Amino acid sequence: MTLTNAHTHLELGWLADLCPDETGRDFLPWMLDLNERRRKMAAMACFVETKFREAANAGIAALQAAGVTHVADVSASGSSIHPLLESDLQGVVYVEVAAQFAEQADRTLAMARYVIHEARPQERSSMRIGLAFHAPYAVHPALWKKGLAYAREEDLPVCIHIAESQAEYDWLKSDSGPLAGYFREMGIGLSSPRKSPVEYLEDLGALDLQPLLIHAIQVDEADVQRIQASGSRVVHCPRSSLRLHTGRMPLERYQKYEVPVYLGTESLACAPSLDVREEIEAGTALHNGQFTAESLHQLLEQPL
Ligand SMILES: [Zn+2]
Repeated sequence: MTLTNAHTHLELGWLADLCPDETGRDFLPWMLDLNERRRKMAAMACFVETKFREAANAGIAALQAAGVTHVADVSASGSSIHPLLESDLQGVVYVEVAAQFAEQADRTLAMARYVIHEARPQERSSMRIGLAFHAPYAVHPALWKKGLAYAREEDLPVCIHIAESQAEYDWLKSDSGPLAGYFREMGIGLSSPRKSPVEYLEDLGALDLQPLLIHAIQVDEADVQRIQASGSRVVHCPRSSLRLHTGRMPLERYQKYEVPVYLGTESLACAPSLDVREEIEAGTALHNGQFTAESLHQLLEQPL
């Protein structure tokens, strides 16, 4: 029987203390804390070898204990790649890139290319290596351009966090809100494209690669039609949405257009477990009972 957890960051298991309680926390301060902890730790290679790798191994054990057969994992450090390739799980492990400044783009992509090049000979047909672009507010247009060209050339599966928070939407659509304020305060020169997040992905040519789109909450009908026309798929993470106050994904709109929707747990930094079956109860609450537990459970039974 298939049981799919379509979004994890196994290596972040050591940041479980950042997971908000049931009352939740706003997305932007949570994300800034997460980035700060990751930056500090990644600066010390010994922690990448220990904390990240131990978290990846513990995460795989947790997935297997929950009966998961398929997983789509995002790894910025690369720590989960080999443990996943050596496991009996099926799916994709995506190497994640992020760079907010043009001058970081080449080096960031070169490192990801190196990791992917090294890992690909051990790829299994049932566990592939892919490329993840973290999110539009974390990726400079220079990195989008070169990274998408690379993914296209190498026929890599692609994954993107998109349209997650209102802060992301407001910056992308109208250069307003707390993320826009943060960028100005920090001297981050990313320009707002003044488009909806999904429209921006379409203009970049990213949707042509049929990415796995994580969250896709802040979408209107036209955005869902764009996703449907591209043949892309989306991942719904109800507990993360509740705990980070990012709102309700319009699942009924995706179903209207027959866009494939999967369930995922996100990382332990914003969800209390990697047991994707626990997303169902949160999902029925998030959607105010509009979807039955049975209908949400069916989302778990699709292979990646
Ligand atoms: Zn994520």
